[in-house]
Amino acid sequence: MKNTSSRASIDPSPRLVIDRSSLAANYDTLNRLTGSSDVAGVVKANSYGLGADALAPVLHSAGCRTFFVANCAEGERVRTSLGPGPDIFVLNGFWPSESERLSAHTLCPVINSPDELADLRTYAPELGFALHFDTGISRLGFSTGQTSDLFADAARLEGLSLKLVMSHLACADTPEHPLNTQQLHRFRRIRSVFSGIPASLANSAGILLGEDYHFDLVRPGIGLYGGAPSAGPFSPVLPVARIDAPILQVRELEPGDTVGYGAEFTVDRPLRTATVNLGYADGVLRACHRATARIHGKPAPLIGRVSMDLIAIDISAAPQARAGDSVSFLGEDLDAFAAAGGAANYELLVRLGSRFQRVYL
Ligand SMILES: *Cc1c(COP(=O)(O)O)cnc(C)c1O
Repeated sequence: MKNTSSRASIDPSPRLVIDRSSLAANYDTLNRLTGSSDVAGVVKANSYGLGADALAPVLHSAGCRTFFVANCAEGERVRTSLGPGPDIFVLNGFWPSESERLSAHTLCPVINSPDELADLRTYAPELGFALHFDTGISRLGFSTGQTSDLFADAARLEGLSLKLVMSHLACADTPEHPLNTQQLHRFRRIRSVFSGIPASLANSAGILLGEDYHFDLVRPGIGLYGGAPSAGPFSPVLPVARIDAPILQVRELEPGDTVGYGAEFTVDRPLRTATVNLGYADGVLRACHRATARIHGKPAPLIGRVSMDLIAIDISAAPQARAGDSVSFLGEDLDAFAAAGGAANYELLVRLGSRFQRVYL
C-alpha cells in the first residue's frame, strides 16, 4: 500500500501565464493616451513571443482594426485567427514570390522602396498597401532622394490602393534626442503631400512623446505586452506576462559554499536557497543572474549562474518556502529583469521558449 506523499499534488513544470485582460487594459490605456487617433496592434514575432493566435483576437475585441506583422507567414496566421475584416500590414515589404499568398489572405504589404512599388503594380495592383518613408532610422523605407523622385512622378501611385503612409522613429525611447523632432518635421512634410490618406509615425515610446507624434494611427507593440516603452520610473501599462516556476529543492548553505557553474557565487553567511525549475533553455537570459524573482510576494534574488534548466535563488525573505512552491519571474519586474541581463524588455519576451506550459487568463 502506498503512503500518500505531500509531493503527490505538485506539478513541477514551469508555466508562462499571460493575462489577456491586462493586454486589453493596455490597449484601452494607449487608446486614451492618443485621443482621436486609432491604435493598431503590432503582433509581429508571434506577439513578441506571447502568442499571436491567442492575443490578436483579444486586441480585436478591444477595438483594434489594424495589425502589423513582420512577414507574410505571420500575416497568414493572424488572418486565419482574426478572419476577414481587419487590415493586416506586412512590414518587410512586397516580394513577388509572396504575391499570391498576400492576395489569398488579403494582406497589405508595406512598400519600402521604388522597386517594391513597381513590382506591386506588376504583380498585385489590387492589394491595399502602405508607403513607408525613412525619416532617419536608415532601416527600411523610401530614402529622402527616392521620396523626392516619387513626389515628382506621382503617377506611379495612380490606380493603386494606398491605405497608409508611415515612418518609424529611431530614438522615441529617449525623449530629449534631437532626432525625434527632426523625424517629426520630415514626416509632416511627407504626409502633407498625401491628403486624405491616414498617417502613422509612433510606436509605443512615440505615443509618450505627445500628441504631435500621434497622427491618425499609432503602432504600439511592447507597451501592449506590458513592457515600459521608455526608460524612467513611469510606465502607463500593466504587466501581461509572468513565469510561475516551482521550487525543486530547498538547500541550507554554509559560509564558503558556492552556487552553480563556475562557482561564481560564494555564500558568506548561513543561507537558504531554492533551486527552481527554469533556465536559459526557457529563454531566461544567462546574463540575468543579478535579477530578482518573487516568492510568496517577497523579493528573491537570483544567485550564481543561470543554468540551462535551473536557477538558484536566495529565499532568505521567505524561509518557509518548500519544494513545489511557486516562484514568479517577470510580471511587474520585466523591465528590471531584462536590464539586469543587459537586455531590452523586447528581447527577453521574444526569447521565452516553447518548453513552457502556456496559460492564458
Ligand atoms: C516593431 C515595430 C513597431 C512597434 O514598436 P514598439 O516599440 O514595440 O512599440 C512599430 N512600427 C514598426 C515599423 C515596427 O517595426
